[in-house]
Amino acid sequence: MGKRIQAVKGTRDLLPPETAVWAAVEATARRVFALYGFGEIRTPIFEETELFARGVGESSDIVSKEMYNFTDRGGRSLTLRPENTASVVRAYVEHGMHSLPQPVKLFYIGPQFRAEKPQKGRYRQFSQIGAEWIGTRATAGGNPRADVEVLLMLWRFLGDLGFSDLVVQINTVGDAESRANYRAALVAYLEPLAEQLSEDSRRRLVTNPLRILDSKSPAEQALLEGAPKLVDHLNEASRGHFRTVLGELQKAQVRTEVSPRLVRGLDYYTNTVFEIVSAGLGAQNAICGGGAYEGLVEELGGQPAYGVGFAIGEDRLLDVLPAATRARALPPGPVIVRALFDAKRTPVEALSTPEAATQLAEELRTAGIAAVDVGAESPARTFAHADHLRAPAILVLGEDELINGTVTVRTTGDRAQRVVERAQIVPYLKQLLLSLSLEVKS
Ligand code: AMP
Repeated sequence: MGKRIQAVKGTRDLLPPETAVWAAVEATARRVFALYGFGEIRTPIFEETELFARGVGESSDIVSKEMYNFTDRGGRSLTLRPENTASVVRAYVEHGMHSLPQPVKLFYIGPQFRAEKPQKGRYRQFSQIGAEWIGTRATAGGNPRADVEVLLMLWRFLGDLGFSDLVVQINTVGDAESRANYRAALVAYLEPLAEQLSEDSRRRLVTNPLRILDSKSPAEQALLEGAPKLVDHLNEASRGHFRTVLGELQKAQVRTEVSPRLVRGLDYYTNTVFEIVSAGLGAQNAICGGGAYEGLVEELGGQPAYGVGFAIGEDRLLDVLPAATRARALPPGPVIVRALFDAKRTPVEALSTPEAATQLAEELRTAGIAAVDVGAESPARTFAHADHLRAPAILVLGEDELINGTVTVRTTGDRAQRVVERAQIVPYLKQLLLSLSLEVKS
């Protein structure tokens, strides 16, 4: 026997039936995002390293510590994508999407890669469901309307998944001018206290001082109590932007909570930033992050454009999915078709029972009913099989059934056994499946 090989640390396999829940969540995303006119984009899993270095920002944790970089055979420096926004913006620029009617609305679903320390809710390969609204011209009413539309879509998606206890934590990091003002004030406040800061924060004091606000250390949080506040350094435009976003969200009854220290880890955000956390998760409690980005498209070689988007961590979303939604997402399993095989008896009309079972299974599939043909498996194994696949029924075909033109049906829910005319088996099973799906939904 060869040596066993395991999945790489921080990665995992998703198996049935859990994958059915993932597929159902993704189907909900596709349905809801389409309601807002978002189309799906699929970008490559690896890109030139420079895309993320410039797009996500050299000073971000992602770029400085977490990227999977490799050199390909041609000596190019490539990176497994750690997030999807930079790739979407690259594609927007590469395909000249600024010449399409604006805005361009795109969503994606797919794996991202970060070399983080694995723990519960934090993987090295994880999946994000995200959307980006990108436009070179402001919509009527200005850019805050874009932020609002994206948040309404996100809120509807989470609502349709059955979440009722979530809150959007929201803040503004201001436009470029406000940020520069604030950055100067924050550095002036923190520099004399540098001795008391961690090594990470001292480094950030130079590279990206706003990120220090994100610090998890209680000692640093205490120091930050007296720090200048971002809201006091916002210019009138940024203030107005934030006011509009908050007002509109309130009118639409999106539950929001202003979170003045929220700055987010990626460098490209301007104005609105937001996060959704779930009490049902442990330390890694953020299920979604997002915000607006004013300079990113230009930074990546495009026309100046306004962008706003979000990324939901699908793994974490699945961890806290409401139980009723999960139950609904799991479809009833296939019916099991089993042959009673008696080698001593002669096949009826030259058709052995296993052959008849295979034929019946195919007939059911043609009628749109999922079926698993287990051949002449023993009763114990058939029951185990039915249990594992959550089969709604076991159909038995023996010589007697073949002679009489019937099928013996054992419904697994009530364990009742009845004989059904072969000609009636499709309508009978359709009725059974319908009643089961009604039960799950109610
Ligand atoms: P970010 O791209 O860092 O804004 O992350 C957006 C969302 O992706 C987070 O709120 C998490 O739900 C999810 N996420 C980020 N990193 C990981 C990870 N290493 N493992 C699982 N989910 C993650």
